[in-house]
Parts: sequence; structure tokens; C-alpha cells
Amino acid sequence: MDNKRIVVLGAGESGTGAAILATQQGFAVFVSDSGVIKPKYRELLDKHLILYEAGNHSMDLILSAGEIIKSPGIPDNSPVMQAILRAKIPVISEIEFASRYTQAKKICITGSNGKTTTTSLIYYMMRQAGMNVGMAGNVGKSFALQVAEENFDYYVLELSSFQLEGMHRFKADIAILLNITPDHLDRYDHSFQKYINAKMRILQNMTKEEYFIFCSDDEITIRELENIVLAAQSLPFSAKTIQSPGAWMENNRIHVDFRDDLFSMPLTDLSLKGRHNVYNSMAAGIAGRVLDIRKEDIRTALSTFSGVEHRLERVLKIRDVVYINDSKATNVNSTWYALESMETPVVWIAGGTDKGNDYNELLHLVKDKVHALICLGADNSKLIKAFGGIVPWHVEVKSMADAVKEAYCVARAGDTVLLSPACASFDLFNNYEDRGKQFKQYVREL
Ligand code: ADP
Repeated sequence: MDNKRIVVLGAGESGTGAAILATQQGFAVFVSDSGVIKPKYRELLDKHLILYEAGNHSMDLILSAGEIIKSPGIPDNSPVMQAILRAKIPVISEIEFASRYTQAKKICITGSNGKTTTTSLIYYMMRQAGMNVGMAGNVGKSFALQVAEENFDYYVLELSSFQLEGMHRFKADIAILLNITPDHLDRYDHSFQKYINAKMRILQNMTKEEYFIFCSDDEITIRELENIVLAAQSLPFSAKTIQSPGAWMENNRIHVDFRDDLFSMPLTDLSLKGRHNVYNSMAAGIAGRVLDIRKEDIRTALSTFSGVEHRLERVLKIRDVVYINDSKATNVNSTWYALESMETPVVWIAGGTDKGNDYNELLHLVKDKVHALICLGADNSKLIKAFGGIVPWHVEVKSMADAVKEAYCVARAGDTVLLSPACASFDLFNNYEDRGKQFKQYVREL
């Protein structure tokens, strides 16, 4: 690039990391954020003597950049992005930028649900095996900051569809696509195909030297694969049919076959419960074998990983009622798996900001398992319309304190109280972490 000016849009975790790495690489860097920059990121930018602005976009400065690194939260239809696109300035993601400056092998995970869980599980497994590995993407410290400050041999990267959109030359060494179900359609002009196309970019630039791990039970994934020529070596996983090479579930065990070498363990030994986690564990198991991790280390990791906060997280058992925090279930599919994994009658706390949900697929599970529904949203009309007629009892609340109080009153011995909202949290909470933390706090105060 002749023009050594880089503009970073958005000064969150990824933007700040990208600005630091770009400065280290000798670029003139300017950071622009239309909102408030958190003190933690201001301090970092100051420490590295990086110029920035908050609450404004100075278009003359932005449009003089040779390249723009955009935070995944900024949509293409925002005025600033429209101007940049008109000016034809290349726009990339922080992941694309950082990947230029590391030789490390990259294990990349995408999908509609299960990314953080599977990313954390694989990272845990690699650490257990003694590998020099970092974890980045949507989790923890940004990839760019770690590339600037660390010297890892491997990275496990969680990639959202928004990040994948800003990636062009990037190539995964191992790519994992967990599933594709509707999510974030508000950001994709309500076009499911556009969202699918973004996810499929995980495969870009791969050759026969690399590996693609995917769920062969996922209809959308399979349909898309029929339309492309896949260069990478494919390693599918399935809960229904034998996949060899690959992984499958049979006789209450998972089996992984890679290079004619079999690994198998009972489902009961997997530390993460629920059918969705069998998929996540199979994906991690295959990645482990590709990375040449000893079977014993894979087994130990899959049986001792303690899970990630806010994902089917068991909080407490009070008077023989178990309380589970699944606040991260922000779409219908993840709530489907939560309800599916319930083995007791359920008091279900749901609701929030609806992202165009279709509740039909939950109907039979709710009918079978839920005896009380607590609607926790600013507008619960859609939820009540879908389930009001099929659950014996429901109530509307506007705070987590009331939701937990109602749940405590209506739950019977042997029940599970499940917070699995199927909706985003922004109507009543700062984010899903805030929602989950409040749930845990009020449960602990019971
Ligand atoms: P992501 O990072 O993709 O949002 P998480 O691991 O944070 O995924 O999990 C989000 C929600 O989806 C949680 O409620 C979790 O229990 C559920 N979940 C996890 N893995 C899967 C999967 N493979 N399929 C469907 N739902 C899943």
C-alpha cells in the first residue's frame, strides 16, 4: 500500500488492538468512534500515542486513508460506511489485518450458535496438551493486540459473520462451521442468503493442505456445499450417520476417525451436556486429532472442560429446583437446544428484543416441557401470542428481580427454572452478560 495511513473505525476491543498493531507496523493511524470510547481503550490509545476522536466522524480525515479497518459492529448502511464505499477505499476487518503479521496456524470457528463454547473448548484442549496457543476473535483480548504483543504458534479464532465479511486474503488452517440458522437478519436486509454467504467465507482461499470441519446434519450447510468446489479436506461430523473420516455419534458414544486412527468416548463422559454440545465436542475432537493432540489429552479436555458463563450454566439448586442461566440464547435455535436438553418440567423465562423470531419450531418442546412461562421483555405480545394458549400459566414482568421472584413461587420440587430468552437483551438490559449476571444475583439472594 502506497498510502501508509490507516483509519480504524470503532474503538472497542478489536479497533483498539488494530490501532496498536498498525502503529507498531509503521502506519500513521487515526481512530474514529461516533460514540463514547471506554476509559480502558482511551488509556491504551494514549499510551501508544495514537490519535483518536470520539462522538464524531471527521470525514476529511477518514476519506484520506489508504485502508480502513472497521469494527464488526458498524453496519454497511451507516452514513460513514456509505461515504467510504462511495470513495472506494478498501475496508477490512481487524482479523484480516492482524493475520498479515503472524505466521501462527489459525483454527477458525464460525456458525450461528456454539462459537464461543467450541472456541473455548478447543483452546482449553490445546492448552492442556501444552501448546503455545492464544484465543481471540469475539472472545477475550483482540487478535491484533495479541499479534502485537505475544508470540503464539497457534490461534483459536471465533469469527462472526460480520468479521468474515471484512476478510479477503485471510486463510484458515482449520475451519469449523458449526451450523447455520437465521440470526442477525436485521443486519442482512432480512436476506437469509446474504447471511449464509457471509458464513461460507470461512472457506475462502483454502487449499487441499487445509481442513474443513462441518456438521453434515445441517441442511443449509450441506445445500451450500453442493454449490461450491471445496478445495480443503472435508471432515464432517454427524449425530445421525457414520462419517469416516470425521466424527459421529453411535451407541451413546462419540467416535472420531482421522487417518484411519479411531478415537471414541462415551457421551456420559462429556462434561458439556445437551445434544448441541455433542456436536461441539465432536467438532473439537476432530480438530484435536488434526492438530495431532494425544487421544488421552483430548479425552481429558472433553471430560473436564467447565463450560462458558451464560451458556446453559447451572447456577444453584434451591428446594429441589435447579436454576440455569442460558442468557446467551439470543435466538430461537439456541433456545431449542436448551429446551431439548431439559429432563424435568420447566419454568421458562424468555423474551427481550425480538430479531424476527419464528417461534413455531419451539411449540412441541414447550408443550411437552414448560408448565410456566415468564415473559421478560418490554414488548411480550409475540411471545404471548405464540405460547399463551399452550402453556398452562404465564405472566409478564419488567425486571429480572420480578422474573426470579415469580419463578421461585411457581416452581415445584423437581423443576428446572431456565432463563433462555431466544431474544436479544437490549430492551431491559445492557447486554446478555448483564441479564445473566442479574439472574444469578437474584437467584443467589433467594
Ligand atoms: P455463539 O458464540 O455462537 O453465540 P455460544 O457458545 O455463546 O455461541 O452459545 C450461544 C447459545 O447457543 C447458548 O445458549 C448455547 O447453549 C447454545 N449453543 C451452544 N452450542 C450450540 C450448537 N452447536 N447449536 C445450537 N445451540 C448451541
